[in-house]
Amino acid sequence: MSHSVELAGIGMTFGTTRAVSDVTFTVAAGEFFSILGPSGCGKTTILRMIAGFIEPTEGSVLIGDRDMKGLGPNQRPTAMIFQSLALFPLMSVRDNIAFGLEARGVSRAERHAKADDLLRLIALEGYGDRMPGELSGGQRQRVAIARALAVEPGVLLLDEPLSALDLKLRQHMRAELRALQKRTGVTFIYITHDQSEALAMSDRVAVMSAGLLQQVATPRELYDNPATPFVARFVGETNALSGRIASVQNGHAQIETGLGPLTGRAGQGAQPGAQGTIYIRPEALMPQGTGPNQISADIDRVDFEGSFALVHGRFEGGEALAASVPSTRLADAPEPGSRAGFSFDPAHAVVLGDG
Ligand code: ATP
Repeated sequence: MSHSVELAGIGMTFGTTRAVSDVTFTVAAGEFFSILGPSGCGKTTILRMIAGFIEPTEGSVLIGDRDMKGLGPNQRPTAMIFQSLALFPLMSVRDNIAFGLEARGVSRAERHAKADDLLRLIALEGYGDRMPGELSGGQRQRVAIARALAVEPGVLLLDEPLSALDLKLRQHMRAELRALQKRTGVTFIYITHDQSEALAMSDRVAVMSAGLLQQVATPRELYDNPATPFVARFVGETNALSGRIASVQNGHAQIETGLGPLTGRAGQGAQPGAQGTIYIRPEALMPQGTGPNQISADIDRVDFEGSFALVHGRFEGGEALAASVPSTRLADAPEPGSRAGFSFDPAHAVVLGDG
């Protein structure tokens, strides 16, 4: 059975370091929920408070509506998978998976049956007799997950479990983990500093910065409607042009930038007279486009990345330009060394207050 997890105003101070401040969010039972943020923002500290390795200095952790105060890791319905996997190297894959069950007094026959079920679940049927050293990195990762699932946790806590894998395998494992989570229905709380990983796998994502919660939303919502300047810059790439917000009307804000007036959707803190920034995604900038928002930039280089090319340059005020052009329309990409015009649809840009 999966459980919900509620964090109510939790905070953690280590000596003089304020690692986490006043974080409140609820993860629904059966949800794939990620905590995303740069190194040192407090992600692991939150996971350790949920698991019971440390007690928060403020606030409470509720799992399945039950206050976890005073309960240690073994008394909580959670299992945790760490960055470094640490399978037992001298134990077979089957014994590794069944390890947690032995401590719970499950008979040997039952342990093996359960381990074989889990091997099927992670698509490693027939690998039970191998040693961890005879598996690939991705297969070892799956075994570590099966070992954590063996004890039937209501909540699985995963601390950057894919960070040691190469890019191809990491991308493959994203889909596998996502499918495994859906198949088991277990609540996953997944920590990562990789925004594409969080966007690709999660039902919802909490974005953290310097111990503070910035936004909790679906991947699409985070990308399209960032609540704060930090989220706008951290999740996906963006162009950012600052200025004074001139007017806000019908959900749109006009901002006076060094490149002239530009219009985007009005986001948080977009008030007339306030200092603000318009954020425009690289794919929203159309080379040679016609439309209300016209801007030009000096082109430095065009990086071909496969399915698209990324055009880099500088706007007149010196801000960086990033525009992506699909490979099927590479002929539209401006030449390096040239000055090129772009336009963008106001619906594909957002204006936020800088405050
Ligand atoms: P990373 O992605 O690098 O793992 P993180 O977001 O998980 O980072 P945390 O490990 O939660 O970050 O650390 C948050 C802050 O708390 C950091 O400034 C860290 O140095 C500090 N910190 C974490 N654990 C302790 C501890 N036991 N004692 C003192 N400070 C700590």
